[in-house]
Amino acid sequence: MPLLFVKGDITKIKADAIVNAANNSLLGGGGVDGAIHRAAGPELLAECRTLHGCETGEAKITGGYRLPCKYVIHTVGPVYRGGNHGEPELLRSCYVKSLELAAENQCESVAFPAISTGVYGYPKEEAAEIAASAAREFLETHEMTVLFVYYNGAETSGRRELSEYIRKHWYEPSKYNMYTVREETAEPEAVAEEAEDAKPPVQDSLSAEKRREKEARKGVTGLFKKRKLTFESEAAGSDAAVCNRVSERRDAYAGAAASCQAMQAAASKPMGAHPDFRGMLDESFSQMLLRKIDESGMTDSECYHRANIDRKLFSKIRSDALYRPSKPTAIAFAVALQLPPAEAEEMLKKAGYAFSQSSLFDVIIRFFIERQEYDILKINEELFRYDQPLLGA
Ligand code: ADP
Repeated sequence: MPLLFVKGDITKIKADAIVNAANNSLLGGGGVDGAIHRAAGPELLAECRTLHGCETGEAKITGGYRLPCKYVIHTVGPVYRGGNHGEPELLRSCYVKSLELAAENQCESVAFPAISTGVYGYPKEEAAEIAASAAREFLETHEMTVLFVYYNGAETSGRRELSEYIRKHWYEPSKYNMYTVREETAEPEAVAEEAEDAKPPVQDSLSAEKRREKEARKGVTGLFKKRKLTFESEAAGSDAAVCNRVSERRDAYAGAAASCQAMQAAASKPMGAHPDFRGMLDESFSQMLLRKIDESGMTDSECYHRANIDRKLFSKIRSDALYRPSKPTAIAFAVALQLPPAEAEEMLKKAGYAFSQSSLFDVIIRFFIERQEYDILKINEELFRYDQPLLGA
């Protein structure tokens, strides 16, 4: 069952249970503990008084009162004192004991804050690893949705190589002002150009190169109807190298922009959506998936667990040869099957998608697949950090 990351305030999460990073007294404190008590109301404190505290690494359960969850599971994380005082084991135990309590109370979903990473000072990256591995192990034998709630955005610092890879490979038009969409009437320059376009063509008043650029602009303008697309070479950021590359390729992009728009639209639409394409596929996505699972020697459940996909969705895919997965689902299976880049691309194609350099999501996925790193939780952490959809469901 899935492990998901969400940004926000845990007191607003509608899970069956939320976990509180409490202190040993269980009588409230600062940080997430204070927020939970404030949102739950005084009845929570009254019930907590009856529990007589909690040991570090243990967990106790109460009602949710005015919170949108049924239960609050209070666990006490270790104070970080260098990492050699049993902190990793105690932190892991917080997750395991909380998950066990959630399961005993028939919870189907449970949300965790990043325990111990606030005033208790646990390094966020290490704490995130422990949280993920404890949850992953638990989910191998339990049907539950586990949410990690990050309050201030991602609670880990992210991979430097990935941000470098993104800088190098992500073609991000808006950042580098490769083209700017302007309202036709808003810009005097655009209006002037429009007027010029209306004049009969004077053959030699423009160089051949300029004419080509004008024609390309016209074509693109037509596509946008009420909008006009113009090209500028100044980069919005300070990256001179990218800026130069952008300006060198400007003309090429002018001609290609229209078809690029169409390709992007096609890439974001699964091919199976068109009934005519369905019959034309020799092997469907679903058939390919099942074949590759067999070839890998994995069981179905190993595969959907690794893909962070829930059993119900997998059964749907299994029983419908023409099932049309979303792009993140298709990629989740490619990752679960540990496919090398070419095969991952082939699988994606079967679902009607392609990797695009203008999609940050795709660039992040490619980074991991090229390195043959197939840990879906690590991939999701990075996708989450960049505000991208997560793999699995
Ligand atoms: P601890 O004492 O275990 O370190 P803290 O409450 O100080 O607990 O912080 C634990 C984590 O909870 C921190 O990463 C903090 O950013 C996060 N946090 C604080 N308030 C909330 C909230 N309302 N929802 C989710 N997470 C929160």
